[in-house]
Amino acid sequence: MKIEVIKADITTIAVDAVVNAANSSLLGGGGVDGAIHRKGGSSILEECIKIRERQGGCSTGEAVITTAGNLPAKHVIHTVGPIWNGGNNNEDLLLSNCYTNSLRLAIDNSCKTVAFPNISTGVYHFPKNKAAQIAVDTIQHFKQQELLDKVIFVCFDDENYELYKKLLIK
Ligand code: ADP
Repeated sequence: MKIEVIKADITTIAVDAVVNAANSSLLGGGGVDGAIHRKGGSSILEECIKIRERQGGCSTGEAVITTAGNLPAKHVIHTVGPIWNGGNNNEDLLLSNCYTNSLRLAIDNSCKTVAFPNISTGVYHFPKNKAAQIAVDTIQHFKQQELLDKVIFVCFDDENYELYKKLLIK
């Protein structure tokens, strides 16, 4: 499994699954979530509403999958990152779970290429440095790498892009 880092808008990436940094309501929000729903169109929200009716939203660290609507990707995997609350509230494990559970769901849906945004580093205020370390560490230690072709970290801001490059290009 290849691991890449790019600086881009994740709504432009043609992979089997793009991951969304959603919130537990699954009803959309700002940041990357807003961009995905805006560009992907209403079919994504319609599926999110069906999932809500079935299971009542999505817990922190968990993931659900929908169509990608009008996006160039095939699927959107919605995962709910932890809100940073000082660091003693299980934030690290919950963030790591987002990456692991998203990849498991990707594999269950025959996806081979997956693009991640920098989960929780926007309005959820997870420290970027720590979040990048957890993301890279979790992906590098993922057990079923042979079932995937490529994971792309899609950074949106320069700070994250520099952090990921440092961690990945050694
Ligand atoms: P969270 O609530 O998990 O913090 P945000 O969407 O606020 O989610 O931010 C998560 C990360 O996504 C931030 O680093 C932000 O810069 C980035 N981001 C925002 N828009 C996009 C986009 N269109 N493509 C990729 N990343 C984005």
